[in-house]
Amino acid sequence: MAYYIFVGGGVMSSVGKGAATASIGKILQGRGFKVSAMKIDPYINVDAGTMNPIEHGEVFVTNDGTECDQDVGNYERFLNINLNTENYMTTGRVYQTVIQKERNLEFQGKCVEVVPDIPNEVISRIEKAGKKDKADFVMIEIGGTVGEYQNLLFLEAARMMKLKYPKKVLFVLVTYLPTLKIIGEMKTKPTQTSARLLNEAGIQPDFILGRASSPLDEPRKRKISIFCNLDPKDVISAPDVDSIYQIPINFEKDGLGNRIMKKLGLKSRKQDMKEWDKLVNTIQKKKEVIKIGIVGKYFETGGFSLMDSYISVIESVKHAAWANNKEAKIQWLSAQKFETGDKKELAKLKEYAGIIVPGGFGIRGTEGKIKVIEYLRKNKIPFLGLCLGMQLAVIEFARNVCGIKDATSREFDAKANNPVIDLMEEQKELMKNHKYGGTMRLGSWDCEIKSGTISAKAYKEKIISERHRHRYELNNDYREQLIKKGLIVSGVNTKKDLVEIIELKDHPFFVAVQFHPEFKSRPLSPHPLFKEFVKVASK
Ligand code: GLN
Repeated sequence: MAYYIFVGGGVMSSVGKGAATASIGKILQGRGFKVSAMKIDPYINVDAGTMNPIEHGEVFVTNDGTECDQDVGNYERFLNINLNTENYMTTGRVYQTVIQKERNLEFQGKCVEVVPDIPNEVISRIEKAGKKDKADFVMIEIGGTVGEYQNLLFLEAARMMKLKYPKKVLFVLVTYLPTLKIIGEMKTKPTQTSARLLNEAGIQPDFILGRASSPLDEPRKRKISIFCNLDPKDVISAPDVDSIYQIPINFEKDGLGNRIMKKLGLKSRKQDMKEWDKLVNTIQKKKEVIKIGIVGKYFETGGFSLMDSYISVIESVKHAAWANNKEAKIQWLSAQKFETGDKKELAKLKEYAGIIVPGGFGIRGTEGKIKVIEYLRKNKIPFLGLCLGMQLAVIEFARNVCGIKDATSREFDAKANNPVIDLMEEQKELMKNHKYGGTMRLGSWDCEIKSGTISAKAYKEKIISERHRHRYELNNDYREQLIKKGLIVSGVNTKKDLVEIIELKDHPFFVAVQFHPEFKSRPLSPHPLFKEFVKVASK
């Protein structure tokens, strides 16, 4: 049977609970344990698939096609494992199951109640995930912040799980310690308040991870220890880091791994993180900088700009850069700026070693991206298109090389004369019936690579498997016409005859894919396509 470590947050959101959860998993993995992880999102949505990225951040996709929270991406990247639908739950999913069971008379005439029936369903899902992954440890991250109404039932589940397995469950509270500039002192009060709120939910934290701009000093640890009722050794520093991949090493520095062993009554084990240490050394080494631009639309929110929507793309670029002994400097380029085709604006693209046009939905920003792609094609600047990025590259090629002036995607114009990108056959009925949830072409699909292409050079494999998330595809009615004019179809799903990769000759790197390679890149095994892109771009 597995051990379960819950991770919850206090003080505020976005303090890096996901990276902390993954990092704790990593140090346990370093001790030879089999670790799995799961994310609990307290919203009603059944999955993240129907949410706007600005609202929610990136929608991560697993092998089995689960559209989930970006933290699942963190777990996969840190732990180098593949997760699936069992590793993700939302309030929506939990209620849906309980209500269905009630309709099926599975409660045998009993009154079905929020407590304990909802937490019991949560617990049974956690146990199932642990069993499926044959895990020694299951890391469970509870989204949101203690004290809010939304995640209360999940805290209740953690409490009840500890009651069920008193020696097998730990709770880690991740908080934030602010340092006000004018005072210059790191303050512990918000952390104390959060611990109290957790106590109110019936849970005493076993560890407090103090996120802060710098490591916690002894007086801070002592204060938290006294007020939050734990050993100062169980107050762990989580200072700001240049790279999130340093976090497991910082945790170890504060002795977290050994303390976990001790609390669970486990014999201490030798730890081996050689590969990880090597990675972190590479990250910290001074390296030549390579500038990569990402042209998107999901980063402006009010007066702030977010990078959450493209987190896997960013991480993939970083992984690939490290593998090429480079440091990636990533710059956001707002698609709308290029819409008018302003020459000065477009000329700025020359400052970049390479440009990525990532995935997206809807027409907004697409004309700007098409102008960018045209410029990259003509000026031989390395270009990597992802999902929507591929569809727009096809539209650009159809318009400007094949002379189909009104070429577009059915997504942007339902009455299009020349939909070179069209709705997939099996999507038509779904769209008519407004069936949007979890119905895209999702998850892993095979793709056959054409030899002698850039893709073949990058992948070095004939059959590859990549993760998808789309409803539209290259319209095969136009395929011959596009190929005749020089478009290379270098990857095809042969079962369905779907074009998965396109590229161009006489260009250092012009490759666009219908799938999302970014979901499979890991720091210890960077994605071949990103690696090749960065390699060419570095030249
Ligand atoms: N909107 C496009 C489609 O649905 C592309 C999706 C994406 O980029 N993930 O096919």
